[in-house]
Amino acid sequence: MAKSVLVDLTRCIGCRGCQIACKEWNERSVKKTEMYGNFTNPPELNSECFTHIRYIEQEKDGMPVWSFVKDQCLHCKNPACASVCPVEALKKTENGPVTYNFSRCIGCRYCLLACPFYIPKYEWEKTVPWVRKCTFCSDRIAADMTPACIKVCPSNTMFYGEYEDVLKEAENRITGNPGKYVKHIYGKDEAGGTSWLYISAMPFESLGFNMDIPAQKLPDLTWSYISKIPAVIGVVLTAGAISWVITRRNKNMDKEE
Ligand code: SF4
Ligand code: SF4
Ligand code: SF4
Repeated sequence: MAKSVLVDLTRCIGCRGCQIACKEWNERSVKKTEMYGNFTNPPELNSECFTHIRYIEQEKDGMPVWSFVKDQCLHCKNPACASVCPVEALKKTENGPVTYNFSRCIGCRYCLLACPFYIPKYEWEKTVPWVRKCTFCSDRIAADMTPACIKVCPSNTMFYGEYEDVLKEAENRITGNPGKYVKHIYGKDEAGGTSWLYISAMPFESLGFNMDIPAQKLPDLTWSYISKIPAVIGVVLTAGAISWVITRRNKNMDKEE
């Protein structure tokens, strides 16, 4: 059964416990940042930060309103990142997470371009770089544990369970609380559906969500486009293969040293 998460943005208090728990569980280091006039830190997801909270101040009925938006991979049901990967390094698993197999990746970075949510990041600064993104704590799910960010949240912002139950919970919260939420479950249809869903009191477009994502499964679109440019695929595969050989060689050299 596929696991899923509902992020109820009306509940988040912006404590960033999820951000810290994710870092700790996934053994991520810290990239130094500087003050830039916004509490969102780091300003964007990066290879060491799989989730962060965006701090957004708006006005509603003449009163200031703060929204705290948790970003991470949405674990699409039909992930565009996996569909363009020429070596199946990215894969949608039966229990929900879109996983990444380090040993398969050839470093072509197609996945970075394909993701409509701009999620995967590359370890540009490393000599042996990998693609990095939220894993949906697939190791914890496999061990029947709740993902770290959800487990630590003090305000129950995230509701975790089977997809059908999570979707029903989202619908019930919207219909059971007239006027509290906008009538939209973000991720129900976007990109053909995602495993992480959002509900909000504020319009999603005002919170920086991409509203131009079609409801159609993106791999269908991607492949109808890619099939028209086989020459490009050949070049990319060749470049990827060369990159893979170099990466392997470097890794072997590292091991030998
Ligand atoms: S959000 Fe992006 S990285 Fe995550 S599964 Fe979807 S396409 Fe892949
Ligand atoms: S599911 Fe796991 S990897 Fe993803 S944001 Fe939460 S703690 Fe991080
Ligand atoms: S731990 Fe929960 S309340 Fe705190 S920032 Fe994360 S989602 Fe929001």
